[in-house]
Amino acid sequence: MANKAVARFTVKDYKSDLKPVWCPGCGDFGVVAGIYQALAKVNADPDNTVVVSGIGCSSRMPGYVATYSFNTIHGRSLAVATGVKLANPELTVVVASGDGDGFAIGTSHFVHSARRNVDVTYLCMDNGIYGLTKGQVSPTSPHDLVTKTSAYGNLEEPMNPVLLALSSGATFIARAFSGDVKMTSDLIAEGIRHRGFSFLHLVTPCVTYRGREQFDIVRGRLRSLPEGHDPASRDDARRIAFEDVEQVITVGLIYKAVRPTLEDGHAEARRRAAATGPFSYSDLVRSFIPD
Ligand code: SF4
Repeated sequence: MANKAVARFTVKDYKSDLKPVWCPGCGDFGVVAGIYQALAKVNADPDNTVVVSGIGCSSRMPGYVATYSFNTIHGRSLAVATGVKLANPELTVVVASGDGDGFAIGTSHFVHSARRNVDVTYLCMDNGIYGLTKGQVSPTSPHDLVTKTSAYGNLEEPMNPVLLALSSGATFIARAFSGDVKMTSDLIAEGIRHRGFSFLHLVTPCVTYRGREQFDIVRGRLRSLPEGHDPASRDDARRIAFEDVEQVITVGLIYKAVRPTLEDGHAEARRRAAATGPFSYSDLVRSFIPD
């Protein structure tokens, strides 16, 4: 039997037997390839790795990765992932989501997971539309986009996931184009290695409801980080976050910081509780009763 301490895993160890049912040409294929490569790069033991998702095309991901997995309910992937990580902080936890799942019903979970600095890697496959339910306007759909639910063009301004992540306290923020599998996998691997909440904004075209030309449109907007960009600088990150992705899409590691994780806080609380002796429920109840 292989010694787990020296086991080396390869891309094929993470491929499940399920064949993806995404539309031919969907940007999600680049992300699943990126996940396989990233897990191999960090040598993640499949027995100690969990992929969690909500609902949507992108949320089919757990079925395609041969690790433990949890396909949860719409918008709640981060709540479940937080529970998984707190129950066993040794696990590698990767969350697969989309713009509809993550930035509509899931927005509050995103904000609070970033604020708490839960040590999970959150991948948002942003295609700017609800694909699974056949092409409705989503929170990141561009202004004026005509969809089945915006016949005269999207009347609303889109959410800005990178700016939201930065303002919510995420300690790792990166952006990649799913058509660039190498960069996608490199940044996912870096996000997994990071201790804390890692947010990957993955620009992932939906060819069926946004058109096949999306790949060329996105490629035409891609830009590397400006020379001298310092990922430790919030000001530098803010400049990238405020860019209009309808004009320019800057890819790379945008921001990285170090601060205690939620799991660190829980471990510290357990240490303090152990030091103060056994907990008395009766004493707690008595403390609420006036003398
Ligand atoms: Fe991909 Fe769009 Fe098809 Fe969903 S509907 S599988 S996002 S191309």
